[in-house]
Amino acid sequence: MLFRLLAIPNLHAYVNPTLARYTRFEIGGPARALLDAGDENALEQAWGAIEETGWPRAVIGGGTNLVVSDTGFPGAVLRYTGRSIEFDGEVVHVAAGAVLQDLVDAAIAQGLKGLETMTGIPGWVGGAIYGNAGAYGHSLHELVESVRFFDGRGFQEISNGQCEFRYRESVFKRRKDWIVVSAALRLKKSTEDLRSAAASILKIRNAKYPPEMRCAGSIFKNLLLADLPQPVRASVPENVIREGKVPSAYFLEQAGAKGMEDGAIRVADYHANLIYNTGGASAHQLRMMICELKRRVHDQFGIELEEEVQYIG
Ligand SMILES: Cc1cc2nc3c(=O)[nH]c(=O)nc-3n(C[C@H](O)[C@H](O)[C@H](O)COP(=O)(O)OP(=O)(O)OC[C@H]3O[C@@H](n4cnc5c(N)ncnc54)[C@H](O)[C@@H]3O)c2cc1C
Repeated sequence: MLFRLLAIPNLHAYVNPTLARYTRFEIGGPARALLDAGDENALEQAWGAIEETGWPRAVIGGGTNLVVSDTGFPGAVLRYTGRSIEFDGEVVHVAAGAVLQDLVDAAIAQGLKGLETMTGIPGWVGGAIYGNAGAYGHSLHELVESVRFFDGRGFQEISNGQCEFRYRESVFKRRKDWIVVSAALRLKKSTEDLRSAAASILKIRNAKYPPEMRCAGSIFKNLLLADLPQPVRASVPENVIREGKVPSAYFLEQAGAKGMEDGAIRVADYHANLIYNTGGASAHQLRMMICELKRRVHDQFGIELEEEVQYIG
């Protein structure tokens, strides 16, 4: 199948790639193939070729929110790598393979407000829509007008409402066969100093997540206060609650997570919801650490933590 794909413009195919190279954790075994589709035609062709093989298929973006198994993925991994960013007044049309930070920088350069709080969130736009990424009290869903995706048969466009965005959730998390290819976001012309607002956010973020850190940001989602069992809810101090959510780190810290380690896997000693690979860690060690943290929080508080990271393989 790969031979046939070599002739298609904007499609790049790699055989048996080690997925650790494509994830920020630098963990994960090989896939049978990696296909990078740079435009919609290439994506359709790549999809068709994978269908012919009967192999399982996984979609990834920048690999910043992924835990890939040590045995890798027994199929084809697909990335949509189109990265155009085009402004039309206060609306920006962006392809899913654009680096989110490039979009943030481009919007700031245009004097358009809305994306500056996303400064420093790694990954690509498609992954950010999939997980409704956000920070500092804002999420991407506040800006999305529409999303275009490929459903295996053709391309469709859906509105913000149809994306069913919630905290770190979207319809794309439930429809794994849908591939985001682009989105239209509505920003707002502003005279504020967006550049310095972004710079101060980046400074804080770089101290928390040094750019070379092999990690996925927060491992677990924060918890909606309203979803917590009543006795737990009543015990959470007011000053811990942020926008109706309780940080998972609050419970993890009390469960003794900070500084835990297993081989090259560590929980940061300054942030209980941050696990990183100091170099050479395995997915097995990482998953064991995640299980242990979930077990501790469950035993102590009766709460189920839910991973924000996504698993492949
Ligand atoms: C240091 C650090 C800090 C972080 N801070 C934040 C933060 O503040 N806020 C936040 O929200 N996140 C944060 N994250 C998590 C991560 O950056 C985001 O989730 C990001 O949006 C993931 O994008 P990605 O391209 O890397 O996706 P990947 O990790 O490659 O994939 C994540 C999921 O998205 C799906 N996906 C990717 N592209 C597509 C597509 N085109 N169509 C359909 N599905 C797709 C994949 O199937 C996968 O399930 C952080 C991560 C790190 C490493």
